[in-house]
Amino acid sequence: MITITSKIQLRHRMDFYLLDMIAIPDFSAGAMENWGLITYRETSMLFEPGVSSESNKQRVAVVIAHELAHQWFGDLVTMSWWDDLWLNEGFAAYVEYIGTNHTFPDWRMFEYFVKDVQSAMEFDGLVTSHPIYVAVSNPDEINEIFDSISYDKGASVLRMMNHFLGDETFRYGVSNYIKNRQYRNAFHDDLWNSLTNVSIKIKYKWKIPFTYTSKSESNFHPSFSDVKWIDREEQVLAVNVTSDDWVIANAQMYGYYRVNYDDQNWIKVIEQLKTNHEVIHLINRAQIINDAWALASAGELKMEIALKTIDYLKAEEDYIPWRTADGELSYNYMKNLISPLFTRLGLNNSGSDHMQIYTRSLIVSLACDFGITDCVTESLKLFKEWMNNPNNNP
Ligand SMILES: [Zn+2]
Repeated sequence: MITITSKIQLRHRMDFYLLDMIAIPDFSAGAMENWGLITYRETSMLFEPGVSSESNKQRVAVVIAHELAHQWFGDLVTMSWWDDLWLNEGFAAYVEYIGTNHTFPDWRMFEYFVKDVQSAMEFDGLVTSHPIYVAVSNPDEINEIFDSISYDKGASVLRMMNHFLGDETFRYGVSNYIKNRQYRNAFHDDLWNSLTNVSIKIKYKWKIPFTYTSKSESNFHPSFSDVKWIDREEQVLAVNVTSDDWVIANAQMYGYYRVNYDDQNWIKVIEQLKTNHEVIHLINRAQIINDAWALASAGELKMEIALKTIDYLKAEEDYIPWRTADGELSYNYMKNLISPLFTRLGLNNSGSDHMQIYTRSLIVSLACDFGITDCVTESLKLFKEWMNNPNNNP
């Protein structure tokens, strides 16, 4: 398993020659990256062929790769303060894919990565989200930032940079960052400076790396020269396509952004999925479903268009699009089911009998769990009233 990190090629030999790993019963975290002695929960390290499941096997490989990555990102170079936690966890969450892919290339781990991009964007769409660099001034705030932003968004941003800088430049920049900060602490500016220094020669600018492909000029594997740099002011980008063409933006979801189209283009993309979905890269098939449902939930796209993006799934045999659809369907299906019932039942128990109160309690609990705004707002209001006057439970 130690060979997992050999592909990272950071060219930084550690001062220890032995790295022990120990599985501990009742270990509260998944694992802890102590330098030279990594401790694990038993289920995160031990795997028994014929007994453990396929997903156990992947989980063990990914956790071990994650903790090994921390020997560099976290141990050799440690973030200066918790506000840059993503320098530890974002890197480990990205490098765990590189390590696992090296050991098990047939697992197609980089396709699996897209679920992290999706989780990060879902979390990022909530009002409780925060930038990857986040001020931490109280010990209570430390635990809060071990979240999808520090892990998944941090890893997604690193994958985006890896893509548009190219493997060699990215690796060289990261290698310099490690070399410059080893046995010391690091700020995010140390990473930006190392990456910027190696990318000056390609005139890299910190803007949105936009890529697209079309039916007539298919390119789901964009290189650096295919990236169009968009800033906030630039709203229009001329794209050369015929009227029969569909356009799909953000090839392989390398960019950390959502994409919306006019209805006409959505319909053409949906038609392509139905006639021959394999023309579209499987990561983009997942992206189309994920973006459409997120946009529909936010009121930016008609729900009937989002629904049509999953019509083709009866022909889909790849895991990633199905996994994406599974997440969207259960969440949105339940939300749509509960929403009208919550509106009818509300939160007022007066005049209700025993079982009606039980039903309302269950529906309100589900409505708040599924983020129905009225439920959350009203419940918080009632909770505040109760806290102010504990003798009167509304
Ligand atoms: Zn970690």
